[in-house]
Amino acid sequence: MIRTGHCLCGATRYRIEGPETWACHCHCESCRRQTASPVTTFFGIPLSRFEWTGQPPKSWASSPGVRRSFCPTCGTPMAFQADRYAGEIHLYAATLSDPAGFEPAFHVHYAERLPWLKLDDSLPRHPGPAPDG
Ligand SMILES: [Zn+2]
Ligand SMILES: [Zn+2]
Repeated sequence: MIRTGHCLCGATRYRIEGPETWACHCHCESCRRQTASPVTTFFGIPLSRFEWTGQPPKSWASSPGVRRSFCPTCGTPMAFQADRYAGEIHLYAATLSDPAGFEPAFHVHYAERLPWLKLDDSLPRHPGPAPDG
């Protein structure tokens, strides 16, 4: 299974092969600020099955050992990488070419959620990170 994704302007693109390792909604304050959205939905994929195509993103260190990437032309947030998750990249599901064909499985950092956001799903809600992550 090959899937692609891209930023708003289309300059920064990626290609992934095979299924994601996990898929979730993140309510942490860092994701919220970087994406300027109350919650973000993302997934992990091994770097061995990922490649940037088109213009490579720019990245900056949001905290020690953490890099967040964005399109240098339009600013769309594209990816999260951390030393503690070496060998994988986390991509924002909304950047997939077909984001509707994607299913999140749980919530993380639910304790940091905004009180006015009402989500009516029955997925597991972890107050902090996922139990094994
Ligand atoms: Zn762009
Ligand atoms: Zn987060």
